[in-house]
Amino acid sequence: MVTILFNKLPWWSLAAIVLIWILITAYGVANIRSGYFLKSLSYNPDTKRRQIAITFDDGPSQNTLKILDVLNKYNVKGTFFCIGKQVKLYPDITREIIAKGHIIANHTYSHDKFIDMYTTKRFTEEIITTDTVIREVSGKIPLLFRPPYGITNPNIARAVKKTGHHVIGWNKRSFDTTIPSEKVILNRVTKNLKPGDIILLHDTKFITIAVLEQLLLFLQKNNYTTATIDELFSIQAYA
Ligand SMILES: [Zn+2]
Repeated sequence: MVTILFNKLPWWSLAAIVLIWILITAYGVANIRSGYFLKSLSYNPDTKRRQIAITFDDGPSQNTLKILDVLNKYNVKGTFFCIGKQVKLYPDITREIIAKGHIIANHTYSHDKFIDMYTTKRFTEEIITTDTVIREVSGKIPLLFRPPYGITNPNIARAVKKTGHHVIGWNKRSFDTTIPSEKVILNRVTKNLKPGDIILLHDTKFITIAVLEQLLLFLQKNNYTTATIDELFSIQAYA
């Protein structure tokens, strides 16, 4: 029956079906917001307050201390998705993040370039090892997790199901790791900003210190408050 159907169809229609499937899968892998492979929290459209969340990936690093100073100046709390091996390198800075009232979350141990190729087992280990390192350093066991590069696939979905973390995405990407202009980065995150949005920044980048200060002034001027990710979704940050 299927063969008869395909025999009747022109050859290119089959090619088109395959191509569409590949495109949908590629979109699902690259776009955490699509929710194609797993459920992730990328913004909260139901938020009752005029609030947004600011998140920082890839730290801790020396630069994180400058980021903490700016946040402290405006009395704003952020959520830090930390890389396990960085936590091991900078245990004092990790503790400082928590001491200043911010939230620590899991961003894998290695943040390897090819982490999307990892097996379920290897990816699960990345998450668990990071939880362990964070617990050893701070006594906290994070429940919030963000996959590197926002990539999702079936192996990552299975790993997260096993570890039981909330998967956190974003909907305002700054590209502060690649764009050299403070103005352009700031415009990317403030343009069409609305309550419930999640901004992605990197506490590892020098340029982000200045961008952050401009962003916090913008929020002040536009009567926005900020929430940590657990507050934004009314979920638990730690086990
Ligand atoms: Zn990252």
